Amino acid sequence: MRAKRSKKYRKLMHQYEMTFGFREPYQVLVDSNFLQAVHNFKMELLPALERTLQGKPKPLLTKCSLAALMAKQPINPKTNQPYRPHHLPPPTELPLRHCSHNADSTPIDEVDCLLSLLSPSTDAKKNKEHYILATADPPAAKKSDKADNPAQRKRKRDDEREEERALRRSRALRSGARSIPGVPIIYVKRSVMVLEPLSSHSETVREGHEKGKFRAGLDDPNAVNSGEKRKFDGEGAEGGERKKISGLKKAKGPNPLSMKKSKKPNDNAGATKKDKARTEPVKKADAGADAAEGEESGAAKPKRRRRHHKGGGDFDAAPAAEPGQDMEVE
Ligand SMILES: [Zn+2]
Repeated sequence: MRAKRSKKYRKLMHQYEMTFGFREPYQVLVDSNFLQAVHNFKMELLPALERTLQGKPKPLLTKCSLAALMAKQPINPKTNQPYRPHHLPPPTELPLRHCSHNADSTPIDEVDCLLSLLSPSTDAKKNKEHYILATADPPAAKKSDKADNPAQRKRKRDDEREEERALRRSRALRSGARSIPGVPIIYVKRSVMVLEPLSSHSETVREGHEKGKFRAGLDDPNAVNSGEKRKFDGEGAEGGERKKISGLKKAKGPNPLSMKKSKKPNDNAGATKKDKARTEPVKKADAGADAAEGEESGAAKPKRRRRHHKGGGDFDAAPAAEPGQDMEVE
């Protein structure tokens, strides 16, 4: 199961490398929910990412994600600052990615921040920096079943509303990332780190990329030059390959070729049969020389075999020797 998945992920990352130019170490933008999930499921950030990407990861945390992380922390009364979250790895492991969205560089909404880094331009969506997005659903809030008095009920309602809002934002981040071609998405799903398959937008680009390669093959002067094409048509394996490409353009190609092909094997088959017919009797003649059948060895060759059988019926001594000779020949 695990081996199968890692093979699948390696293939996926290979597609991102071939089509979108991803290279190791892979830059991974991790969001606050992802860090929370990694911590909750007791994963180790770097090894888990490396396993998922099947390559060296370079995780990054944006300033806005950090701000979102800190906003959820209780305030330390001594310093009047939020406590450092347990799920925030040290900067050596997770360096800060500086981002500036406005004049005074105040943090903005985390989702807006990440989407703007994944595709700086909104009209031409492109993941220029080759970022990978690592995200997760927000952790489910603890259920407080006690809702006896109106104040508690209101608080519960607020919590639920907040949870729903957070979930919607998280989904918006992922669908926004999917709409940008060439954004690998990692997410944590029930204690498993998952690499999403190519989004439909990425798939479209990949298919275009493949077609581009195909077309480049057609535009290759060697392939399209008609004189050369014709020359190749009647010939070997390489000609066969080119033939297929031209065959897609013109339906006329295959017919004369198939006729030529059908002739060749027939000729060959005929030739080999004749050859055998010629060579076999010669061998027999060599072998049969001892048996003192000089006259017959010179005569019509195919008949000879029949005569052996006849001979076997007529003479007692001959059959014992002749089958043995046949065996040797064959
Ligand atoms: Zn930002």
